[in-house]
Amino acid sequence: MTKRLYHDDAYTKQFDATVVAVTTYKDQAAIVLDATAFYPEAGGQLGDRGRLGAATVLDTQETDDGTIVHLVDAPLEVGARVHGELDWARRRQHMAQHTAQHLLSGTLLDRAQAPTASARLGETALTIDVTRDRIPDTDLAAAEDLANNLVDDDLPIRAWFPDAGELASLKLRRDPKVTADIRVVAIGDFDFSPCGGTHAARTSQLGTIRITNTERYKGMTRVTFAAGRRARAELFTRDQVLRGLATRFSCAPGCPGLDRQGRARRRGPRERARGVAHAARRFDRAGVYRYRRGDRRTAGRRCARPRGRIEGGRVRPRCTARRAR
Ligand SMILES: [Zn+2]
Repeated sequence: MTKRLYHDDAYTKQFDATVVAVTTYKDQAAIVLDATAFYPEAGGQLGDRGRLGAATVLDTQETDDGTIVHLVDAPLEVGARVHGELDWARRRQHMAQHTAQHLLSGTLLDRAQAPTASARLGETALTIDVTRDRIPDTDLAAAEDLANNLVDDDLPIRAWFPDAGELASLKLRRDPKVTADIRVVAIGDFDFSPCGGTHAARTSQLGTIRITNTERYKGMTRVTFAAGRRARAELFTRDQVLRGLATRFSCAPGCPGLDRQGRARRRGPRERARGVAHAARRFDRAGVYRYRRGDRRTAGRRCARPRGRIEGGRVRPRCTARRAR
């Protein structure tokens, strides 16, 4: 049986081990080691990638009998001593997402009375299926808010194998899938769940947690979320889209023409006048319409002649002049 080094320390990035078997897994070359820090796909978390000696590890899987197989692109000999090195950026992101799933499952249960049935943490989408149908937006917002507050609290995360007495005293969020050697992961005193995966050391390492979508699924609710670097990337992308729309419609979030939800507001005479003032910032004193940097039509160049007019409280750009050189 392969010693699972990630159980002792999920932050092991490199290690040395001996090849104990050469085999195949679904027609791909695979090897078995006496010890490994590569995490095999399980519990919704993808298997690790990296290098073993001169070979590239394309994936790590676990067979039905519990053997960890490393799928490799080059042959290795039984008895060879190899140096293993994880694709750490990928593993770190997977650890953060997996731990964020623990935390969000806990807050969905606490604030939305929605127990987790299953979770999937793929390369492009992170989802949690909860057994409650039709969750109000206020409950989802409360669950997301609590998760982020617990991230801010920088709670310690601990994984260990409790004895039977201690295990009985713990209030686990879900029942374990195995009956022996049950490993428990605790997020502070907030969440206790059985899990053999890899986890961040503290909640502050999870970064922002965002629920990005929900949909009904087989009588349950499928919650799509993002965490850490992925959440930041999605927020950045959405912000870029919002900035583009604000430029296009001359109306940024918070401008007088939008309500708190960002919807266009019905305007009275005073607000129409304010809208004119807001839009008029794009004109200089001589009435020259100045395109902003990044405007596709002028690529940031200034226009030499007036290109727009204000009409009925709305800006009507008009581009008849040649571009200024
Ligand atoms: Zn876990």
